[in-house]
Amino acid sequence: MPEAGYETPGARQHEGFLVLTAWGCARRLRCGILDACNGGYVMDRADVIIVGGGIAGLGVAYHLAQAGVRRVLLLEREALLASHSSGRNAAIFRPLDTIPGVVELATRSRVLLDALLDEERGGWLHQVGLLLVSALPAELDDLREVAQRSGLAHEIMERQGIESVVPQLAGGGAAHGLFLPDAGVVDAHAIVTCLARSAKAAGARLTTGTAVKRVRTSRGRVEGVELENGDRVPADIVVIAAGAWASGLGASCGAELPLTPLRRHLVQLEARLAKATPVVWSVGDEVYFRAESGGVLASPCDEEPWPAGVPPVAAAALEGLAEKLARLAPPLGRGSVRRAWACLRTSASDRAPVAGEDPRVTGLFWLAGLGGYGMTAGMAAAEMVVALVCGRQPPIAVRSAPARLLPGATRSLPVPGG
Ligand SMILES: Cc1cc2nc3c(=O)[nH]c(=O)nc-3n(C[C@H](O)[C@H](O)[C@H](O)COP(=O)(O)OP(=O)(O)OC[C@H]3O[C@@H](n4cnc5c(N)ncnc54)[C@H](O)[C@@H]3O)c2cc1C
Repeated sequence: MPEAGYETPGARQHEGFLVLTAWGCARRLRCGILDACNGGYVMDRADVIIVGGGIAGLGVAYHLAQAGVRRVLLLEREALLASHSSGRNAAIFRPLDTIPGVVELATRSRVLLDALLDEERGGWLHQVGLLLVSALPAELDDLREVAQRSGLAHEIMERQGIESVVPQLAGGGAAHGLFLPDAGVVDAHAIVTCLARSAKAAGARLTTGTAVKRVRTSRGRVEGVELENGDRVPADIVVIAAGAWASGLGASCGAELPLTPLRRHLVQLEARLAKATPVVWSVGDEVYFRAESGGVLASPCDEEPWPAGVPPVAAAALEGLAEKLARLAPPLGRGSVRRAWACLRTSASDRAPVAGEDPRVTGLFWLAGLGGYGMTAGMAAAEMVVALVCGRQPPIAVRSAPARLLPGATRSLPVPGG
C-alpha cells in the first residue's frame, strides 16, 4: 500500500499549501511526509469513523487516540491530508473574536498546540502579534470589551503608534488600533503533520484517497459508512468533519444541517514588509495582510456562498482587495499580484462552531462550521467533540451543539470574524 506524501500525484494540489506557508516548507524537511495510507484496504470494523482529514478530522483522530479509543479510522477523499481549507488558509492565529466561544477555544487550543509542538519540536506559532485597526474608534469597541472580559493581553494604540509599528499604514485610514501581542502566524503544515503522526502513533488509522459516499443508519442509529467504491465499514460512531462537504454528508443519512460554504480569496502581493511586522486586520472595512515568503499575503475578506469544491478566482475580488488596500495601506495597494487563490470557509448562520452529537441520529457527531477560525480554535473544538464522544459534557459544548440549528431552535449571534 503506498504511503501518501509529497511525491504522489496529489502533491500538485497540495502546492497551494506549500506556497502559502514558506515557514511550513522549511518544516517539511524536518517533518517528512504525512503519515497516511492511500486507498486500498480500509478496516473491517471501526469504533469511530471520522470523515475528513483537515484540522477538524485530524484533531478528533488525535484526541480520540490520546483518550485510548481503539480502532479509530479517519477517511479522507483526497490523496493528501489537509488538501482543502486546512492547507489553503491565511494561517493567522487570532485569539480575539466576538463569536461566542471562540476566545475560550482559541485559548485552550494554544495550550494544546504548545504541548503538541513545543519549542524542541520547532514550535507552531510565529508570534508577531495582531494589530486590529479601524477608522472609527467605535468599530473596535466590541473586540476591546471581549479582550478585557477574557483577560487577553492587549494594547490600545492611536495613529502615531500604529504607523511607527507598520509604516505602510501611513496615509491610510487606520486611526485606531488594538494590538494583541499573543497572536501571530501558525505553521499549519507542522500542525497537521504532527497531529497525523501522533494520532497514528497512538493507534489511529488514517486513510487518504478514500471517499465516503454516505453515512449508514438504521432505526435512528449510526451503523457505519458506505464508501464511493461500494465497500461498507461498520462503526457505532461517525464524526462528520468534512468542511464544506459536511452538510451534504449529513443529508446522506437524513440529518442535514444548514451550513454554508463561503468563498474567500487570498492573494500574494509583490511588496515588502519587515518579517516581524504584526498581522494587520482592518475592522469595518474588512481586509487583512501579513508578511509571507518575501512578499505580502492579503485578503479582501470577501464572502460569497459557493458550492463545495475548489472555487475559481474572481478578478473582482482582486480589484476589491486593491481598493481596500489603497484605503488602508497605500503602498500595498500598488503591489502586483504574484499568485491568488480562493477557498471555502463554512459557517452556520450564527457563525459558532458546530460540534457535538446530532439529536436525530444516535452516534452521529459533527465538527464543522469552523468558519474563519479553524486553525485558531480547531484543536480545542476537536477536544470538546472527543469529550462528548466519550460521554463527558464540557459546559462550553452547549454553545456549539448542532441541535441549535434545527427548525424551532432559534438563536442568533453577532457576526463578523476571519
Ligand atoms: C481563505 C481562507 C482563509 C482562512 N484563514 C484562516 C486564518 O487565518 N486563521 C484561522 O484560524 N482559520 C482560517 N481559515 C479557516 C480554516 O482554514 C478552516 O476553518 C479550517 O481549515 C476548516 O477545517 P476542516 O477540517 O473543517 O475543513 P477542511 O480543511 O476543508 O477539511 C475537510 C476535509 O474533508 C474531506 N472530505 C469531504 N467530504 C468527504 C467525503 N465524503 N469523504 C472523505 N473525505 C471528505 C475533504 O477532502 C477535506 O480534506 C481560513 C479559511 C479560508 C478558506
